[in-house]
Amino acid sequence: MPEAGAAPLGRLAIVGLGLIGSSIARGARRYGLAETIVAIDRDAAVRARVLELGLAEQVTGDAAQGVAGADLVILCVPVGAVGTVAAEIAPHLAAGAILSDVGSVKGSVVAAVAPHLPAGVAFVPGHPVAGTEYSGPDAGFSTLFQNRWCILTPPEGTDEAAVARVRGVWEGLGAIVETMSPEHHDLVLAITSHVPHLIAYNIVGTAADLEEVTQSEVIKFSAGGFRDFTRIAASDPTMWRDVFLTNKDAVLEMLGRFNEDLAALARAIRWGDGEALHALFTRTRAIRRGIVAMGQETAEPDFGRRKEG
Ligand code: NAP
Repeated sequence: MPEAGAAPLGRLAIVGLGLIGSSIARGARRYGLAETIVAIDRDAAVRARVLELGLAEQVTGDAAQGVAGADLVILCVPVGAVGTVAAEIAPHLAAGAILSDVGSVKGSVVAAVAPHLPAGVAFVPGHPVAGTEYSGPDAGFSTLFQNRWCILTPPEGTDEAAVARVRGVWEGLGAIVETMSPEHHDLVLAITSHVPHLIAYNIVGTAADLEEVTQSEVIKFSAGGFRDFTRIAASDPTMWRDVFLTNKDAVLEMLGRFNEDLAALARAIRWGDGEALHALFTRTRAIRRGIVAMGQETAEPDFGRRKEG
């Protein structure tokens, strides 16, 4: 529910009506966070679908026109496209407007947007740590951000009132907001999100390449751990390509540590060191239980990923 007492925005413009953009539109409508929602998307098929679904009061392919007069503009496009879109819309942003985004990497987004930011416009970068493996306007749902973290990474000196406004919107969508530096965000997310996705892409790719395992066997026996990896490895290819290209240093740093620990595990298996294996698996089980206890995951077999709204 919206923060008590927070006045709704006049005009909220969302650029990119995919999973995240359409979820924000649905949530903003459901929780009364904006008087007018403007949906901006370059794809005519997406615009038609947004109209059909009734996700916004105004729908346009013209970003310049769409952001004019907006109080808050949220860029919901792949990280690699944020700079280009920012350059396109910057001259049309109203004085006093707030620009934000939802990109999964923050350092590169800050660097890409900063040169285009007009005077009188605050940039409050954000990243809702919530998502699914689906894309497009049909994939979104209004409760996607409920009880999920949203990390804001405002550059030093950002107008505090603008940060508070963006915080209020995310709290209105049900998220729990935390602020940190873009660099810290990228390091933390490298290990909690980016490297796990890389591992999933890799393991599913390896299984698909195994010559002695036919594809049907991969599918037939996928009831084990493999199936969970296939869900992650079904995530949007464009989005994830951009994540790895733009968070290169942090991902490589975490991957280095991962490789060392994997080598230690291989060694434990080779030398029959059951104690080391058991100790690690006990530690990791406790981490899983901690995540469930914090309400960030459910113990249900379907991970509670039913859609609603
Ligand atoms: P999505 O469902 O694929 O939607 C992306 C939208 O951006 C589409 O409308 C797409 O239009 C548009 N777009 C793509 N390239 C563009 C370009 N060069 N210029 C203008 N528009 C462009 O993706 P998403 O999952 O919502 O992700 C959007 C952002 O949210 C990304 O930055 C991602 O890092 C971040 N994020 C994603 C998740 C997740 O789990 N999915 C979670 C948190 C944050 P077209 O149809 O024309 O390509």
